[in-house]
Amino acid sequence: MTAETSSVTFSQLALAEPIQRALIEKAYTHPSPIQARAIPPLLEGRDMIGIAQTGTGKTAAFSLPMLHRLSLHPVARVPRRPRALVLTPTRELAVQIAENVALYGRNLPLRHALVFGGVGEQPQIRALAAGVDIVIATPGRLLDLMEQGCLFLDKIEIFVLDEADRMLDMGFAPAVKRVVAKLPARRQSLLFSATMPDSIRELANRLLTNPVRVEVAPVSSTVDKVEQRVCFVDKNLKHRLLVHTLEQNPDGLVLVFSRTKHGANRLAKNLSRDGIPSDAIHGNKSQSARQRALEDFRAGSVRVLVATDIAARGIDVKGVSLVVNYDLPNEPESYVHRIGRTARAGAEGLAIAFCDADERGFLRDIQRLIRQEIPVVTDHPFVGQKGAPAPGGSDDEPRGGRGFNSRSQGRSRQGGGGRGQQGGGAGGGGGRSRGRGGRSFSSGSGQGQTGHSTHSRPASSAGASSQHRTSHARPDSAPVKTAAGPAPGPNQNTRGFRWGFWRAKNETGN
Ligand code: AMP
Repeated sequence: MTAETSSVTFSQLALAEPIQRALIEKAYTHPSPIQARAIPPLLEGRDMIGIAQTGTGKTAAFSLPMLHRLSLHPVARVPRRPRALVLTPTRELAVQIAENVALYGRNLPLRHALVFGGVGEQPQIRALAAGVDIVIATPGRLLDLMEQGCLFLDKIEIFVLDEADRMLDMGFAPAVKRVVAKLPARRQSLLFSATMPDSIRELANRLLTNPVRVEVAPVSSTVDKVEQRVCFVDKNLKHRLLVHTLEQNPDGLVLVFSRTKHGANRLAKNLSRDGIPSDAIHGNKSQSARQRALEDFRAGSVRVLVATDIAARGIDVKGVSLVVNYDLPNEPESYVHRIGRTARAGAEGLAIAFCDADERGFLRDIQRLIRQEIPVVTDHPFVGQKGAPAPGGSDDEPRGGRGFNSRSQGRSRQGGGGRGQQGGGAGGGGGRSRGRGGRSFSSGSGQGQTGHSTHSRPASSAGASSQHRTSHARPDSAPVKTAAGPAPGPNQNTRGFRWGFWRAKNETGN
């Protein structure tokens, strides 16, 4: 293939017609890079080592060929003896994979079962006894059921080890070994991992035969395309900070994320009351109401859309220039998905997170995942303030708890001098001139940041919301463990989770 990329669509991949149909029904047209690279060799039955994180589309990358191959050679179901096994570290991932398998396999006569702990075994045992083609499992319960004679792996044709590094981190190495020992020698094996430490390399050597290696850039490269900021703020002042943020960023569409459906409704209502046209989109709304909200948002008649994570999955709206994480997600991957709703198709994007005292742990997890410290806005109007609960409740769900952690109050407001309540209004120039390389990253001087270095970044990659002073600060005194490896550099490729971008660029991923 020449250096020039060509456009690959799902219809060009040799997937069975019922799978193609399911993809059309799901409105998937273009494979993600990992799908484009993984599906052809997997259809041929090759083993694979995939270096990719959640968010790259890896679930479909292994599920689609698995479904294809199983359906191509139908075999009568044998009770307790599935043909494919997907092993994944957490129950949440297992559920997610099962949802995907159900979706992509909806037009196929294949059955799957979920096997994970923390729930009664009996329904799982019954499902296995009835006969299934695919088992999606976490290791502990899988072994339990194997030991009880409720499940045998001697008929496994396809084995997928998902999130292998996380699996080992969680102490599942011995369990994985025991599972692998029960697999038949003749099988197709796939191993997916976000990182490739020696332990995973060894495991891969044992598990795989002449594997094809596919690798896509970590999600953090997507994150690099979005300017990120975090504001420490009292929970009860979040609404006012949101209004302020919207005033400071008057252009473009704004997507605001709320953790709960209830919170999303209330937030949209309160914004509308404040004269800011907004709507909410979440799972409790009918499909037509969601569609309408999206259309109004796309058309710009509603400038602010308040969404929950689930509802936001399919939102691909070009003009979103700002994502506000009104609540921080407890799943750090959600943060990446959320902020990926802006800066689409090569556009600029800004993501601002509001972090209250109860959310600092979430912030730490996010920073660990993206391997970056998110610059802190140190001079927004509510720094160090404590707000009274709004009459009728805040927009947020009560999460109980501690008051505003005074540590962030210690943050200097130097640089905010003279701005008064309007905060960073001065110098905004009316628009959202991003002021790339502007004052916000002026290294250290005037930041008064405690202990942690305030470092400048290259003007081209740093940038900052023109209105606020920022520093690379940490949410508390504990050092942020930036996971192994350096933060991705500015040249890192763009093959992250950017569907719109891929479509725009006709990337093949080759
Ligand atoms: P994953 O990395 O497998 O967790 O996938 C991340 C998200 O991307 C999921 O919500 C998938 O449903 C979605 N997705 C996967 N493949 C595609 C595709 N080719 N086009 C659009 N969305 C996709």
